[in-house]
Amino acid sequence: MPQCCACCGKPFAPRPQVPDQTYCSTPVCQRARKRQWQRAKLQSDSDYRINQRAAQQAWSHRNQDYWRNYRDARPASEQRNLEQQQSRDRAWDAGPAKMDVCDLPTGLYRITRLPAFPSEDGVSWVVEIAPVGVTHPRKMDASRADVIDTPATNP
Ligand SMILES: [Zn+2]
Repeated sequence: MPQCCACCGKPFAPRPQVPDQTYCSTPVCQRARKRQWQRAKLQSDSDYRINQRAAQQAWSHRNQDYWRNYRDARPASEQRNLEQQQSRDRAWDAGPAKMDVCDLPTGLYRITRLPAFPSEDGVSWVVEIAPVGVTHPRKMDASRADVIDTPATNP
């Protein structure tokens, strides 16, 4: 009669070397077995418990040192660049253009220069950005009247 895995419950054939195998050999169940073994070991073996805790503390100490060293090892110029970029990012976030530029979904837009707003510096224009037939690309060249006559799909 085949053994049933203690993790996934599926029947499996125990390996000859491990006659009292209770977990099948899939990686998931083997990881579960290892966790289970570790839990049991932590409960029953105080030396193991102490060793595990010491290993964990050593690991987090090593990691703290790693990040500290990483930061210290970065040249000052790199730090400065990072800080400048961060203040640029903040300025960009605070800028009035954010709503108008960043929140536009990807799609097709028509940019129309508005002559009602004369160019003040001779370099920039005031433009209108309007979505064009995004869902019906073939209607891109349709006249304005055609677009208006198209019945709305949703009221
Ligand atoms: Zn299993």
